[in-house]
Amino acid sequence: MKAIKNYINGQWVDSKSTQILDVMNPATTEVIARVPLSTPDEVRTAIEAAKDAFWEWRETPPLSRVRYMFRLKDLMEEHFEELSRVIVQEEGKCIDEARGEVRRAIEQVEVATGIPSLMMGYNLEDIAMGIDEYCVRQPLGVFCAIAPFNFPLMVSLWFLPYAVACGNTYIVKPSEQVPLSQNRLFELMDEAGFPEGVVNLVNGAKEVVDTLLESPDVEGVSFVGSTRVGRYIYQKAAENGKRAQCQTGAKNFLVVMPDANLDRTVASLLTSFFGCAGERCLSGAVLLAVGDIYEPLKERFVDAASRLKVGYGLDETVQMGPVISKSHMERVLGHIEKGLEEGAKLVLDGRTTEVEEYPNGFFIGPTIFDQVRPQMTIANEEIFGPVACIIKTRDLDEAIDIIHANPYGNAASIYTSSGKWAREFNYRVQCGNIGINIGIVAPMAFFPFSGCKDSFFGDLHGQGRDAIDFFTENKIVISRWF
Ligand code: NAD
Repeated sequence: MKAIKNYINGQWVDSKSTQILDVMNPATTEVIARVPLSTPDEVRTAIEAAKDAFWEWRETPPLSRVRYMFRLKDLMEEHFEELSRVIVQEEGKCIDEARGEVRRAIEQVEVATGIPSLMMGYNLEDIAMGIDEYCVRQPLGVFCAIAPFNFPLMVSLWFLPYAVACGNTYIVKPSEQVPLSQNRLFELMDEAGFPEGVVNLVNGAKEVVDTLLESPDVEGVSFVGSTRVGRYIYQKAAENGKRAQCQTGAKNFLVVMPDANLDRTVASLLTSFFGCAGERCLSGAVLLAVGDIYEPLKERFVDAASRLKVGYGLDETVQMGPVISKSHMERVLGHIEKGLEEGAKLVLDGRTTEVEEYPNGFFIGPTIFDQVRPQMTIANEEIFGPVACIIKTRDLDEAIDIIHANPYGNAASIYTSSGKWAREFNYRVQCGNIGINIGIVAPMAFFPFSGCKDSFFGDLHGQGRDAIDFFTENKIVISRWF
């Protein structure tokens, strides 16, 4: 049984905490590791190490700093399959989905190798005669990431490579439900030879987060997780004078217009709603079928979903894995009950799905509700499981009104052959990520990961140029030489 350690100041250290949690494989329910909830003193040691490492690291030329990223990228490629398997074992997604996660994680490291160009400032000579002005971007100090369970490897890498390549030092707090992928990533960072204190890993939960947020030596926080916790973190970071970017919950609406290509649309809907067992902040949640497409769309969507193979993600033929935990499974099942109570009709009931080899696994099969009304709880709250709600709408206007009535603003998609409808959707819909005939709108590493309303708290997003702005301070120099 692996006992998870912290990585502080270039050393693997055992936590002295008496609070230790089991890490469970959600498909097999086997306990695969034990993770400590580290103490405030241990967090402070990590902050101290990161603070001490900062000056030497910021003086290291950017080109030298990114050489560590090149090494990390090579190591991640070398261990690609192993990293993918660790993700499946602790999180439950299918092996191909895990490979996708590792690929996306590597892409972040690749893009951060461009920091020497990306963090360049700008200048103007002769703002008055003989006076020049220029703007440089400087790193600030210690930053941290607080990550959710659903992308155990990738999420910290939405932030760390940019922060560190810009010259900051870093602390990651992974989700206590899935500490193994970050543990392996930090072993690779250790092998890549990052100087002591530049990258640190502290396991734990709320107490670790609060200690990070209360420390005057932490400059900023990147959070990814639920809206409830994200709102709390944003407020607490502001109270303590820190930069904060909090990517939070979602309820994503997918609109299908009468002229959509049905074959292609249904294939895309399947991965959107049921990929990663619906545990993606970009997963489809509500299907808005416009006009006459409603009946044929429903029939084909239900038929295709009913044929998805559910099971343990290490089996290459499995198409959908379990949800993360027993308590989360009960929460999703509670939402299904609530949908029935409120009068929606189940046209595909995933509660009956059984996986013979793993009878205790946290499996829920693809579930589809029809006759959903926009006011119902299942049409409004984030379920974060393999549950789709179908609502029939009269036209695109009604569909957009339903989307806008929802508090979240992470992603929305339209399926159509009409440029006019697509343009109208993309122009009007208040969501950070818009898909046109695309069901998972995951921005590449060189674009910001957008999101608005209750799906994001902050102003500068993760990834892309926003990341450079978040992790640096502009300094203006005005000079005149006599
Ligand atoms: P969560 O909010 O429960 O946990 C996220 C992190 O916060 C974990 O590291 C956890 O230890 C910590 N945490 C939990 N409670 C805390 C508290 N009271 N105080 C301080 N820290 C606390 O989220 P989760 O269940 O791990 O992840 C699922 C959520 O993440 C979903 O809502 C999903 O939409 C969201 N998510 C959003 C994005 C995005 O980019 N918008 C991406 C992935 C996941």
